[in-house]
Amino acid sequence: MAQEYEIIIVGAGPAGLSAGIYIARQQVSVLVISKDLGGQLNLIPKLENYPGTIMSSGPLLAKTLESQFLSFKGEMTYDTVEKIEEVEGKMKVKTSRSEYFAKAIVVAAGKVPNNLGLENESQFANKGVHYCTKCDAPFYQGRTTASVGVGAYLLESGILLSRMASKAYMIYKGGKLGGDKDLIASLEKKENVELIPSSSIKAISGNGTLQQITVVDATGSEKTLQVDGLFIEMGSKINLDFVKDLVTINTKGEIEIESGGKTSHPAIFAAGDATSIPYKQIVAACGDGAAAGLSAFNYVEKLKGKPGIRADWKKQIGDTVFHY
Ligand SMILES: Cc1cc2nc3c(=O)[nH]c(=O)nc-3n(C[C@H](O)[C@H](O)[C@H](O)COP(=O)(O)OP(=O)(O)OC[C@H]3O[C@@H](n4cnc5c(N)ncnc54)[C@H](O)[C@@H]3O)c2cc1C
Repeated sequence: MAQEYEIIIVGAGPAGLSAGIYIARQQVSVLVISKDLGGQLNLIPKLENYPGTIMSSGPLLAKTLESQFLSFKGEMTYDTVEKIEEVEGKMKVKTSRSEYFAKAIVVAAGKVPNNLGLENESQFANKGVHYCTKCDAPFYQGRTTASVGVGAYLLESGILLSRMASKAYMIYKGGKLGGDKDLIASLEKKENVELIPSSSIKAISGNGTLQQITVVDATGSEKTLQVDGLFIEMGSKINLDFVKDLVTINTKGEIEIESGGKTSHPAIFAAGDATSIPYKQIVAACGDGAAAGLSAFNYVEKLKGKPGIRADWKKQIGDTVFHY
């Protein structure tokens, strides 16, 4: 017999675990189903910009969020969600090993950055090779960097690194940079930026940390550049096949959300990198996860005829309106 919960959360990254903490504290039954603990947090050995902590790491934050969630009696299972369907007014969640039912769902399935596909690439991850320029550019103050990638992702990478690095190479396959014309014009004027069009990266090497990249152009001609950091901005994979028939997905493959993590389906809420929010960062994922969790809680309370925690409660006493 399929187990039943009030709310099921898909994903144990910062968005899913934050949603879980806010729901579990309200003492409703909640299950997090995730392929792993932490999601992209596992790619962050040095975390500098999570407010309230001077220095942390992604895996440590994941473990702390998990312990906090479990301490409020939230439940967790490691599995892959394959399909969510609506069956007789309930949400049925089919995983690779089991089936569950819930009254509401929070989707926090995040994303996974694309890599270049070089044989030894993973061995240099966070040892000179990076997949999030806005996260890691500040580590390269006054150093030599290269960015490789596509469209607006590459443009943003070049702009951020041109402010930090002493030298910033930008490598791309096409003959021209794509994106906003004014931003491209300002990049072209910067003395520390060198554009390398019609090119790709053939190899990377170094002694423990990244030291060199080999760039090949359309004619097959190769050159080696000495760099301290390589920023790979090839976009990300978001896999929402399991829910795509129930919610609106935008052209970037993200779930369209309104405030409070509301989606186009009344029983499905969403938060974090798999959604249409700008500035995809941990603190945003946590904040939006909390909001989506509370919206899901309010939804199930309303089904029971209870008030829940309303975002719009107010009370007037005399001339003063108190907002809760
Ligand atoms: C290299 C790198 C460095 C970064 N550095 C920083 C930084 O320094 N500071 C910062 O603020 N942000 C940083 N970020 C961004 C930050 O990691 C993300 O914004 C944040 O992790 C998003 O959280 P999330 O919970 O939405 O998604 P994720 O962290 O991607 O978690 C999603 C979870 O969902 C699970 N999942 C997905 N599909 C399924 C399924 N079908 N069934 C079950 N489970 C599923 C995954 O296994 C994962 O556990 C970095 C990102 C990268 C890639």
